[in-house]
This record gives sequence, C-alpha cells and structure tokens, in this order.
Amino acid sequence: MLKLYNQLSKSVEDFVPLDPKNVKIYTCGPTVYSYAHIGNFSSYIYWDLLVRTLTLNGYNVNRVLNLTDVGHLSSDADDGEDKLEKGAKKEGKTVWQIADKYIDAFLKDFYALNLSEPTKIARATDYIDEDLELVRTLMDKGYTYTTGDGIYFDTSKFEHYADFARLDLEKLKAGARVEFSSEKKNASDFAIWKFVRPGEDHAMQWDFEGRPGYPGWHLECSTIIHTELGETIDIHTGGIDHIPVHHTNEIAQTEAAYGKKMANFWLHCNFITINGEKVSKSLGNIYTLSDLEKRGFSPLDFKMWVLQGHFRGDRNFSFEDLTSAKNRRLNWRNRIAYAYQITPEPTFSRETALELVSNNLNSSELLAYIDNSVLSLEDWEFIDKLLGLDLIATTPKVSSDILEKIKAREDARATKDFAVSDRLRDELADKNITVLDTNIGPIWQYLA
Ligand code: AMP
Ligand code: ZN
Repeated sequence: MLKLYNQLSKSVEDFVPLDPKNVKIYTCGPTVYSYAHIGNFSSYIYWDLLVRTLTLNGYNVNRVLNLTDVGHLSSDADDGEDKLEKGAKKEGKTVWQIADKYIDAFLKDFYALNLSEPTKIARATDYIDEDLELVRTLMDKGYTYTTGDGIYFDTSKFEHYADFARLDLEKLKAGARVEFSSEKKNASDFAIWKFVRPGEDHAMQWDFEGRPGYPGWHLECSTIIHTELGETIDIHTGGIDHIPVHHTNEIAQTEAAYGKKMANFWLHCNFITINGEKVSKSLGNIYTLSDLEKRGFSPLDFKMWVLQGHFRGDRNFSFEDLTSAKNRRLNWRNRIAYAYQITPEPTFSRETALELVSNNLNSSELLAYIDNSVLSLEDWEFIDKLLGLDLIATTPKVSSDILEKIKAREDARATKDFAVSDRLRDELADKNITVLDTNIGPIWQYLA
C-alpha cells in the first residue's frame, strides 16, 4: 500500500485513488523567464519518483505539468513586474522569444535527468479562453470585485480559505496594512485577471470585455487542471513556497467555481539550501545543470544526490555530497558490469524495494537496501524503472576489441611480459576501462 504525506490532513495517509486503475496528477511547473536551477529540478526529481512508484504499483498515471509563460509577478502576490516581461526587457527579446528559449532549455534538462514524460505539458498562454470562462464563472457566482488594476477574488467569501495553509488572516491583515492596495478588500484577496493600464508596457495581453489584460498567476493552474484532468484530481504537487499563496488561491478559485474538491492529495517538497540558505534566483546562489556538468558531474549524479534524501527533508547541497552521490552511481554501474560477467546469486527482493519507496517516497532507505544487496541484471532493470537513473544504458557492455585486449593482457601477464601488459593496461584506461585481478579471474570495470 502506497502511503503519502498529505498537506490537507498534515499527516501520512494511505493513497487511495478516485479510480482504482488511473491516477490523475498535476505538477506546478517552472516560470520560464530564466534557466531552471538545481532547486527547481530537485522538485521535478521527487515527482518523477512519485510517478515511477505509482506506475510500479500498477497504476496508469495521467499527469499534466504546466509552463508559466505569463502572469507570474515578481512578488507571489499581485505586485511587481511580470517575470516574463522583465526577462524580455533584460535580454532585448520579445516575451515570446524568452518563453521559447527557456522552455527549450528546461525540457533539455528535464530529459537529461531522465524524468518521465508527462502525459501533457501545458503552456499557460494556450489556455486564455478557458481562463476567461473561469473568470466569468467566478464573477457570475459573486466571488469577485473589480478594482482599478484588475478583477479580484474576494477571499472572505470562500469560507475555508485559511484552512489549507493554516493561515492566520488577522496577522496577515496587520502585516499588510501598509502595503496592500487600498482597493483590495482583504489582504489575502488576489487578482484573477489583471488589466493592462494605459501606458503600461505589457506585451502579452488579451481582450476581456473591451479592455486589455492578462491572467493572474494562480488562474492558469485551476484552468489547466479543469480542462485537461477534469474535476477533482488525485494528487497535486509543488514546492512548500506554494502552500500559503499559490495553492491556497488555486483551491479557492477552483472549489468556488466548480463546487468540487480540487485534489485529494497535496504534496510539497522542501527547498534545498546551500550553506543553509535557500537556493533561489533572487539570492543569486544558484547552479544550473550545466554549471554542475562544467565541474564534472552529470545530471544523473545530481539525480542520485536528490534521491539520497526525502522530499520533505532538510537538504543542504554541497559538492562534497554530490561527489559521494556520483561515486555511488559509478559503483552501481560497476556492479552491473560485474553482473554482465558473473551471474550473481541475488539477495535482493523487488517487492521489498517497492515497499520501501512506497512508504512516503522513502528513497534513501531504498538506496541503502540496494547498497547492501546482490542484484541480478533483471533487478537492475527494475531499479532503472523505479529510479530512472539510466544505470544499464550508461553501462554498455564492452566491445569485442576491448575483450581481446583484456585477454591479451592476461596472456602477457602469464608469460611475465610486463612491458606488453602495462601497455595494454594503459590502452584500456584510455577507453575508460580498468581490470581487477580477482581470484575468479580478471573482471573489467568502468573507471568513471
Ligand atoms: P518557479 O520556476 O519559481 O515557479 O519554481 C519551479 C518549482 O521549483 C516550484 O515548484 C518551486 O517550489 C520549486 N523550487 C524553487 N526553488 C526551490 C528550491 N531551492 N528547492 C526546491 N524546490 C524549489
Ligand atoms: Zn500551480
């Protein structure tokens, strides 16, 4: 039985999907105004593990990931500049060019991490008509009011607004007194549609009732979920930053408009930190996957590092720990190389492995179990399905040419022709291969 920590009940629950065979998942995706960093990708690695665990538990997964290419303002509330518009100005490009550029970069990294392909990748700007339908529904149902800068959701009309994040609305009100626009009725009210004001430079805009505007950030997720997955989904995922504002607002909009529960399970990953500080674009302490590659680490080394911890745990990133993760991955590859050469007597149970990770995605225990067991090639294939580390594909069998060199080196050693055996050892090392002389004969391994 799969167990997951659910933000709705703030506890670990047995996972029971709405349909016994099919699971519907939505993941809040990146805002595509600059390169995604390792913090962002840690979240997609956890959700990849979630999808793989569900699949191996026998479910068909229907998963949608969105790409935010409009409406995410520089503060998660409704102030500041649209991140895409800001990015476009900074790079001297159009907003559409910026979105395309960073979507391409994101997907390239996404596939380099061998993250399972979502059923649908949905771009926010492809859903403007549906956004406007939702805006109209909320207006018709009396949940909104209009100010000089947009159409706002009146959170006081949604009874359970504070529940999801256990918000203290009084405190929020006191804290925001100075800042929030006098036109807003409550500090927690949020824009579902923003107007482009005369003279405002906002390239992405659509007409609504004769006025140009664009969707509020939270709206797209409610719209995309309703359009692509229907009412009530099984699991909604995001980062912990989403709990108090973004997801709280998604729930308010969706449940007010459709009168149905939005999602049964809400999973949030903790932020990874560097030297105790959260990794974020605004703090400037970010690494991208290509930064890691420049230092000799593959995306899969990073994936291993993420899988060594838990999605709700405190994770401090360091190159020292990344090196250990890399070594673990290389060690596992060489255990596969070993399994090509000698048929080992397995001690590993796939059932136990799946049980470990089904316990609230506890991959670190699974990793320790793999370290301490003997796996057959079929077991390694199973691990590849479960963890997506591409272990078998990155451990090719050696060519006949290399096997001949290994044989020739053995022969040279047998006749004590060390000049030849040393030369062959060096030639093998050039091909990234080393040979261990064991009591059952020579065993080849990859050097790195
Ligand atoms: P954004 O592109 O800012 O909308 O973020 C994309 C995803 O990455 C969201 O789910 C965030 O919660 C998540 N995220 C951002 N920074 C971090 C971090 N340091 N650690 C883990 N997840 C993060
Ligand atoms: Zn979202």
